[in-house]
Amino acid sequence: MTKENRKCSFCGRSEENVDILISGTSAHICERCIEQAQLIVKEEKQAKGKHKLPSFKLLKPAEIKEHLDKYVIGQDEAKKVLAVAVYNHYKRIAYLSKKDESKDDVELEKSNIVLVGETGTGKTLLARTIARMLQVPFCIADATVLTEAGYVGEDVESILARLLQVADYDVAAAERGIIFIDEVDKIARKSDNPSLTRDVSGEGVQQALLKILEGASVNVPPQGGRKHPEQKMIQINTQNILFICGGAFDGIEKKISSRMQTNLIGYGLNKKEDEVDRDNLLQYVAPQDLRSYGLIPELVGRLPVLTYLDPLAKDTLRQILTEPHNSLIKQYTKLFEMDDVKLIIEDEVLDYIVEKAVECKLGARGLRSICEIIMRDAMFDLHSYAKNNELHIDLEYAKNQLDKTNFSRLKVA
Ligand code: ADP
Repeated sequence: MTKENRKCSFCGRSEENVDILISGTSAHICERCIEQAQLIVKEEKQAKGKHKLPSFKLLKPAEIKEHLDKYVIGQDEAKKVLAVAVYNHYKRIAYLSKKDESKDDVELEKSNIVLVGETGTGKTLLARTIARMLQVPFCIADATVLTEAGYVGEDVESILARLLQVADYDVAAAERGIIFIDEVDKIARKSDNPSLTRDVSGEGVQQALLKILEGASVNVPPQGGRKHPEQKMIQINTQNILFICGGAFDGIEKKISSRMQTNLIGYGLNKKEDEVDRDNLLQYVAPQDLRSYGLIPELVGRLPVLTYLDPLAKDTLRQILTEPHNSLIKQYTKLFEMDDVKLIIEDEVLDYIVEKAVECKLGARGLRSICEIIMRDAMFDLHSYAKNNELHIDLEYAKNQLDKTNFSRLKVA
């Protein structure tokens, strides 16, 4: 074959229609066919080793919590609930891998989880920290970008495609992974929606999500994105994937409170009204509150483990700033250290940062933005700010930096 009319020996595309064409002694292959072939090899390998599960150390719930404690301040209840759920997930996987050999037919159901808590209280951080510690594939997906099939946005299957990518296309590993779905409250049904058009981002998405939560064989486009008729699909069974959903559920306190009121009147219950902690109603959240908020009952039923995160009080925010393994202040100290500069921040600056973070109502997320503003100039031109290889940040400097920037834009209305 002359150089001019070389083509891929597998798909037949000519050289000008492909990006890369690799030549062997008597054949050529294009980049697309290489990718396809790679997938086939992975699938074949994985099919052969399907029953060989990766061995992992079964951490006890207390050990999981201990690990979380290093990175996440407070949130003890959520940590315990997560630790138990993840522990059971591991056990379930171990059980399933042995089940073929034994006659034991107890069905261990998985316990998908919902975390309810204000923004910036550590929902994603908890999920991430668990992920790092685990040896199963893990990915984070945002429920707000999901839409029903056929609408602009991502199909629910794209979540599985991401997990598959994280698992390096090892289907068996992905099928035992964990998926964190953030902002699940944003797909709640809006009952007062006056529009007669279909609820693009609400109930339809919940139905689609339900399908993968329930455990089904789903055809996943390996590269993510929309399904494409010519694309080769990979089948993933979601039966053993653990789902952790997180959401702020803004305003759910009202639903909790009105349910509790009714209960108090109706059945004169175990909690007397004066024992109720009205400042933190989230701790009483129950599945029916998620339903009144607009999640369909089937979905709530598939998320049997429900827990909450506490709002972050000032002293917690102060701890978050300095105590965790990779706290913000430790991170900045490290960054400056790499420039041979020692960072010294006065205690009153830390108190000031916390005060401002409370003002902007962004939870711990506000801490980061405020620190960035305070450090920005010094990071831009370190050597004119540092004296004798020390960068000293006092209250006046911090206040000046915030005054200079339009800090109020950070505030949540
Ligand atoms: P969300 O609840 O909105 O998912 P995130 O987990 O994304 O909040 O938190 C945002 C940032 O705030 C995290 O990256 C982390 O640095 C910090 N943070 C929030 N809560 C905590 C906490 N309880 N302990 C330590 N850091 C926290």
